[in-house]
Amino acid sequence: MNEDAPTHVLPALPYPEDALAPVISAQTLSFHHGKHHQGYVNTLNQLVRDTPLAGKSLAEIIAATAGQAALATTFNNAAQVWNHTFYWNSLRPDGGGTPPPALRERIDATFGSLANLSQQLLDAATTQFGSGWVWLVARDSRLEVTKTGNADLPLTRGATPLLTIDVWEHAYYLDYQNRRAAHVSALLDKLINWSFADANLARARKRQ
Ligand code: MN
Repeated sequence: MNEDAPTHVLPALPYPEDALAPVISAQTLSFHHGKHHQGYVNTLNQLVRDTPLAGKSLAEIIAATAGQAALATTFNNAAQVWNHTFYWNSLRPDGGGTPPPALRERIDATFGSLANLSQQLLDAATTQFGSGWVWLVARDSRLEVTKTGNADLPLTRGATPLLTIDVWEHAYYLDYQNRRAAHVSALLDKLINWSFADANLARARKRQ
């Protein structure tokens, strides 16, 4: 292995930069993916160089640093790398609509309806104080809506993420300024990749 090669690399977006417009403009995606996400990758590579975490996978670094105050900066950057990759895949052009049957069944059983789930995701987004993430997760056989502050993520709490929404201001400020609710509402209507969430649910079930 080439010791100069960085362990962590920025994954390509799963769609062109202009594919999520007008809800998320090409300009927002250019900065969010090309500057913010890339920045977390670069910082993580610097932080782990010549440490016992060098050569470890992202998941291993997250598990090893979670809850450890002395390693908080490494955790934050590793988690932000993971969260953003998961977020890009939680969205797709022409998303929204009706979830696949297996997921739809769990949504109806847990929340009563897709509309109720969407409302809970929106409520979580608007009540997250400051920066953070909103998640649909599977815990045992139940689905839950949860939110985390800053870089934190449900993996450290025994839940399997199905999809996430970035509610840091950098995710929407160029397009919606301070209007987080309007942004998340449009994202829920038009961009959610329910097939990705359904595939994550299927994998979670196999592990049970
Ligand atoms: Mn972000």
